Amino acid sequence: MSEKRDFTHLRERLLDEEQHLLQEIRNLETAIRTSEVGIDVDEGDPEVTEREKNVALLSALKDRLESVRAALRAMDKGTYGICERCGAEIPIERLEIYPDASLCVKCQAEVERLVKRGMYRELETLSQRARRSLQLD
Ligand SMILES: [Zn+2]
Repeated sequence: MSEKRDFTHLRERLLDEEQHLLQEIRNLETAIRTSEVGIDVDEGDPEVTEREKNVALLSALKDRLESVRAALRAMDKGTYGICERCGAEIPIERLEIYPDASLCVKCQAEVERLVKRGMYRELETLSQRARRSLQLD
């Protein structure tokens, strides 16, 4: 049960995703820089809207990158695949789908339910990675 699990292929997937995200972030940053030239302050300017969309997307990609890197750090520390809330092993089937998950299904569902009712008071005890997966930020 508590034998060491092999996450080699998940590490490879996370590393791939990290590279992919870095590339996308670079592309987007270039697009945003380019769109800064000749911005019309007129509010209805479609270029401004496009730029705002890109800025929002960039921030989402950076969150995602942080989450992937946190998962990689957890692998190095040996805490990967363990629910950060209850300490249970996260089943490999879940990690295959969400390699950067840091909560087990039960905790994720429970926290989501409490958050929806405005009853969850331990949010600050969760990592940014977990909060991001709950899409609260
Ligand atoms: Zn849990």
